[in-house]
Amino acid sequence: SLSGKTAIITGSTSGIGLGIAKELAKAGADVVLNSFSDTEADHKIAADLAAEFGVKAVYIQADMSKGDQCRALIEKAPGCDILVNNAGIQYVAPIDEFPVAKWDAIIAINLTSAFHTTAMALPRMRKAGWGRIINISSAHGLRASPFKSAYVSAKHGIVGMTKTVALETAKEPITVNAICPGYVLTPLVEAQIPDTAKEYNMSEDEVIEKVILAKTPSKEFATVEQVGGIAIFLCSPSADQITGTAISVDGGWTAE
Ligand code: NAD
Repeated sequence: SLSGKTAIITGSTSGIGLGIAKELAKAGADVVLNSFSDTEADHKIAADLAAEFGVKAVYIQADMSKGDQCRALIEKAPGCDILVNNAGIQYVAPIDEFPVAKWDAIIAINLTSAFHTTAMALPRMRKAGWGRIINISSAHGLRASPFKSAYVSAKHGIVGMTKTVALETAKEPITVNAICPGYVLTPLVEAQIPDTAKEYNMSEDEVIEKVILAKTPSKEFATVEQVGGIAIFLCSPSADQITGTAISVDGGWTAE
């Protein structure tokens, strides 16, 4: 059980982040939820998790595109035993048409935020004598697809950061790993279907079958519960010697 541990999950009001938060709460961890907004609905997600699983849950607003806010999130969190760097966005365009602001936002949210949160989390983990850092990369952290230059760069970058920080903490009771999902049907994936349809001049159904799941040998989406289950495993004693690795949850995509 993870009872007595506190997990901070960035970008956790929807999709994979929320799925991981639920699995961690189910396993007994107190959870800190995060996104960039500050609405009643955001705080209600935390209250609902606390009620459902009998753990402490708080929502802390922080924009992961801003370094000072990434750092403040870790400072404000009531505990910091497990850090899940999950916040991420996507944008699809050929590189010569790629908006500079989109490039900057993707690199900031999908890569640089984890630098800031990790830098702040490690001293707290060292003080507590235990820590788990789980970076949500992607199959695109190991492979490329056209029109996703910023995303593929950031996701490869986070795999590199995972290895580096694992080496820096290797002699300590702290592990640092990446999870590399293939496609999970979340709002992030749903949102890119229309743009991808335009790029490939296809219908949206054709995009799911021929583009999105084209590289997935299993022809199935992974689920947020499955990704959450890998996070639970990485927090278990069985995973004490697993550090600096990238675990694929991709239906065979990167086997090819
Ligand atoms: P999502 O859009 O459903 O959720 C993203 C979350 O991040 C939301 O809670 C959103 O509010 C939050 N967020 C966005 N910008 C933020 C910011 N500036 N500051 C703080 N929070 C912010 O997306 P998802 O599919 O659940 O993706 C989660 C992570 O998993 C991302 O890093 C994504 O790259 C990665 N991933 C997703 C898939 C997939 O198929 N869905 C596959 C591989 C990797």
